[in-house]
Amino acid sequence: MFKRYLSTINKEAKYTLEYKKYLINSENKQVQSFFHDLPINFNKNEGTVNMIVEIPRYEQGKFEISKKLPYNPIVQDTKKGKLRFINNIYPFHGYPCNYGAISQTWEDPRISLNNKYFGDNDPLDICEIGSTNVSKHEIGDIKKVKILGCLAMIDDGELDWKLLSIDINDKLSDKLNNINDVDIYMPNLLNNLKNWFQNYKLPMNKPINQFAFNGEWLNKNKAIEVIEECHERWKLLVSQTETENATNDYPTAYNTTLIDTPLYNKEPINFTSENQFTGKDNNKPLEVEEIYYYK
Ligand SMILES: [Mg+2]
Repeated sequence: MFKRYLSTINKEAKYTLEYKKYLINSENKQVQSFFHDLPINFNKNEGTVNMIVEIPRYEQGKFEISKKLPYNPIVQDTKKGKLRFINNIYPFHGYPCNYGAISQTWEDPRISLNNKYFGDNDPLDICEIGSTNVSKHEIGDIKKVKILGCLAMIDDGELDWKLLSIDINDKLSDKLNNINDVDIYMPNLLNNLKNWFQNYKLPMNKPINQFAFNGEWLNKNKAIEVIEECHERWKLLVSQTETENATNDYPTAYNTTLIDTPLYNKEPINFTSENQFTGKDNNKPLEVEEIYYYK
């Protein structure tokens, strides 16, 4: 692991409304933001970047970095006050790959694709398709991944890029260097994953998701361009004041490492051992195990 001083702590049990996972600096015991403090570690030449795992493969809880809570812990998304779970789309269980975000990126809602689709106001989403170290993936893990390509998903009319990557420690990582290699070494994966993104909201009585660029997986160069642009937009986000961000419904930008930003060290949270929850996870509601079938 790079950054030995970073670790995570839980507040309250998984699968509860109160669950939060914070990033902490284990040296000074200060809570940090996954969104803003975790370095992007973007190496354009190597094509590598840091990924925060929000949803491990096969998990059903819709865990994500909070945009509203100070220091952006990972929480479970809610819908009408109820915890949100991802339905099982046959033959998958929960998410078909490790899924998460790239720190220090932001899909700016003021920026559009073809003057039509505007950014979804979130950090960039990224899928990780390795499998050999699957058992180690947990919520809040930080992984160095190799970028392979991307898909321009349109969710509710908003641009919602899905980057594709593989853990640099996966046994297939040396063989995969661009999007076309995925079809060679992991036949059917690209098509199945795209179909999953298209259909996964159908059980919630939502329409299928659309895609720009004719629904094609785009190559590594395009993915790198998207990351660069969203990293630049993130720099603008953290340079704004709290009032500007709140007025526009942008994410909070409290942080402990970006010394020149207005929200540097704002109301710092110091971790104490009473903050840590060490009990058992809650049970998932039984009905989320149901399987849905689509043509
Ligand atoms: Mg998104």
